[in-house]
Amino acid sequence: MEEVDCVVAGAGVVGLAVARALAEAGREVIILDAAEGIGTETSSRNSEVIHAGIYYAAGSLMARACVAGRQQLYAYCAERGIPHANCGKLIVATDDAEAEKLDGIRARAAANGVPDLRRLTREDALAMEPALQCTAALLSPSTGIIDSHAYMLSLQGDAERAGAVCVFHAPVEGGRCTEAGIEVQVGGAEPMRLRARSFVNAGGLHAPKLAAALAGMPSQLIPKAYYAKGNYFTLTGKNPFSRLVYPVPVPGGLGTHLTIDLGGQARFGPDVEWIDRIDYEVDPRRGDSFYAAIRRYWPDLPDGALAPGYAGIRPKTVPPGAPAQDFVVMGHAAHGIPGLVHLFGIESPGLTASLALADHVAEVMAARAA
Ligand SMILES: Cc1cc2nc3c(=O)[nH]c(=O)nc-3n(C[C@H](O)[C@H](O)[C@H](O)COP(=O)(O)OP(=O)(O)OC[C@H]3O[C@@H](n4cnc5c(N)ncnc54)[C@H](O)[C@@H]3O)c2cc1C
Repeated sequence: MEEVDCVVAGAGVVGLAVARALAEAGREVIILDAAEGIGTETSSRNSEVIHAGIYYAAGSLMARACVAGRQQLYAYCAERGIPHANCGKLIVATDDAEAEKLDGIRARAAANGVPDLRRLTREDALAMEPALQCTAALLSPSTGIIDSHAYMLSLQGDAERAGAVCVFHAPVEGGRCTEAGIEVQVGGAEPMRLRARSFVNAGGLHAPKLAAALAGMPSQLIPKAYYAKGNYFTLTGKNPFSRLVYPVPVPGGLGTHLTIDLGGQARFGPDVEWIDRIDYEVDPRRGDSFYAAIRRYWPDLPDGALAPGYAGIRPKTVPPGAPAQDFVVMGHAAHGIPGLVHLFGIESPGLTASLALADHVAEVMAARAA
């Protein structure tokens, strides 16, 4: 059996950020991914928004990692020339009841360390985005967009320059936690067995299954996996907006919002569709409900302008209707196994938070050594 210092299972944006942080700290790192390359799952099926950190529960890991990660991410993108744009976002109220909620959103953001939201009148908002219909709005100046693939390639490059090795077609099929480390069985084209001093489970949607495949991991601590699919519909015509546009959030979701890619193309969504198994097909009929929701803030959306886009799946740790989940970074203090760190429920804003989550994983790992 081969001995390695650290294994990171999963080469999505979070696994890559973790591998980079560990490798740059001088650790020997092997990144294993079941797929043929980096970021083939949730990391390439999202909105590519750099979130400000507005809506999350105050004090949650999501809120903290989003705000810290966003600052780190802008700095990283600027330093490395990664395509991104600090385009800003509007949260728009379309009636008086929604307008009353804007101050609460601003207060929550401030509690999360996002003090820069600005209240706009209808006229201010229309001066910025003439196609908009609203009664009032909030401007989030620190929201932006990013080329997530360029970012992931850069993380991979950093990790490899620091000595990390990426192995693809390398699914971790099982293993066991021993006194001497975490032993894992790797399948795929070249099956192998490895014993790692540290093992990070960054398996995204599959993280609970991977955790359950490690003998010695207390099963009662492993969350059940729930999947909340998010479907996108793309705008086939010209996009009249230069900022992201979000309605006032509705219970259980952010509402049908408009995001823009770096080429200026607009897409709407993601919606929320609870599913039992991974399936990325977008049912065109789900687009019907998008029209009325979008026309509340963009009345001129032409008939037939939406085409089915793509879908991503949120790795949920709680079922529909349950209170919002937080990110879970589970280490030795929770399960008692030195060197083992699981990441569960890393849904949005995991891309924004990735650099901060990587620092957090390194801290959780170091805590057991203390
Ligand atoms: C619809 C949607 C929209 C989103 N929008 C945004 C956004 O705008 N901004 C933002 O900040 N965040 C957003 N997110 C969240 C963000 O995309 C995720 O938090 C992030 O991509 C998670 O990365 P990850 O590395 O944890 O997981 P993944 O990208 O899913 O990577 C997991 C990797 O693990 C590998 N793997 C799994 N099991 C094994 C195994 N047994 N052995 C080896 N490899 C394995 C998989 O092949 C995969 O490559 C969104 C998420 C969704 C679903």
